[in-house]
Amino acid sequence: MTPLPGAPFLHRRGSELWLEDVRLAELAAAHGTPLYVYSRGAMRAALVPYQKALAGRPHLICYAMKANSNLAVLQTFAAAGCGFDIVSGGELRRVLAIGGDPSRVVFSGVGKTAEELRFALDRGVRCFNVESESELILLSRLAASAGRRARISLRVNPDIDARTHPYISTGLRGNKFGIAHEHAVAMYRQAAALPAIEVAGIDCHIGSQITDTAPYLAALDRLLDLIEAVEREGISLAHIDLGGGLGITYGDETPPAADAVIASMLARIDARGHAHREILVEPGRSLVGNAGVLLTRVLVLKRGGERSFCIVDAAMNDLVRPAMYDAWMGITPCTLRDGQPEVWDVVGPICESGDWLGRERSLALAEGDLLAVTSAGAYAMAMASNYNSRPRAAEVLVDGAAAHVIRLREAVDSLYADERLVR
Ligand SMILES: *Cc1c(COP(=O)(O)O)cnc(C)c1O
Repeated sequence: MTPLPGAPFLHRRGSELWLEDVRLAELAAAHGTPLYVYSRGAMRAALVPYQKALAGRPHLICYAMKANSNLAVLQTFAAAGCGFDIVSGGELRRVLAIGGDPSRVVFSGVGKTAEELRFALDRGVRCFNVESESELILLSRLAASAGRRARISLRVNPDIDARTHPYISTGLRGNKFGIAHEHAVAMYRQAAALPAIEVAGIDCHIGSQITDTAPYLAALDRLLDLIEAVEREGISLAHIDLGGGLGITYGDETPPAADAVIASMLARIDARGHAHREILVEPGRSLVGNAGVLLTRVLVLKRGGERSFCIVDAAMNDLVRPAMYDAWMGITPCTLRDGQPEVWDVVGPICESGDWLGRERSLALAEGDLLAVTSAGAYAMAMASNYNSRPRAAEVLVDGAAAHVIRLREAVDSLYADERLVR
């Protein structure tokens, strides 16, 4: 059998699938399905290579919480020493809700509202990753009227192809993100002249699910060129924020290890004489993606047509990656059964033909069986919706032999509690 993504935390004992020391079928029986289950050990283990690679130099690992923003997940990373990369005021509220330190938060995002900027200024976030001239000017005005100084870095668009899915590629000239390389020096000049702005660093994030070191190094070289040009103007940049985006293994991808990617980038940084700078990184998916599974039960097996459908109780509202990115995710039974495998399209109950989790999967199944969608710790529950008035799934965090419910299953009546009849 091929090793499970997320191993050794996700593994088989006989025919049974376990996450750490918890049997997944037992969790499904106790909490129902669809159910998200995460391994705390896997999250901590994914962080270690980043920590090791950056040890011995000033750095901050900012977990990009949009990948999975459950409070207990944030708590896990805060306790391990991480700061956070946020993309909204709501995410800052989550950091505050766990007692997190805003001075370890960087605020990214291409369209921050005045209200969000004011709130983040008031709470004292460490750095705003500014993505446009308008944002810079607005931030300066808001900071001045609040009697504060905003620490900023410019998010530069290096025009590098991260060679990933077009929806999650962010560092190309044609993407909405960042400040064009050729405008960056002028904008740093402008920033340095604004009274309520303090230039702190430079930032770049070229995309997600990147499986190759080369685009990182290409972007880094462009960034270092810019740093040198900016400092020739007498503006100093204390930190380099390398962004996130490292891919994980869903199926046959072979991304480099995080410590290898960071080590190559640090070698380039040092070789070009920038060893003194503080390093920030913003990993999301690579810290949580392979720590999670989505458990779902087989409702109906429909044979006999052109294709055979395995209809399960999880759907695109629970896990949109297949529908949205055409993403391949592993699907494996929680209890292996004997019998001849058949080829199934694993689909949800939602009224959309795009509502599928996996196509042409060879599985031996019966109705009522429990399946695990693997590598479902990132951009899964975080992107869940209530389409078709489906309550969002519960979430469980496994830690050794302990299993903690970290989000209750949504109650159906809460879905329309804020709606009003017209009188
Ligand atoms: C989404 C995002 C990240 C994290 O990306 P991953 O692919 O999950 O590592 C980091 N920085 C910014 C600005 C982002 O938008």
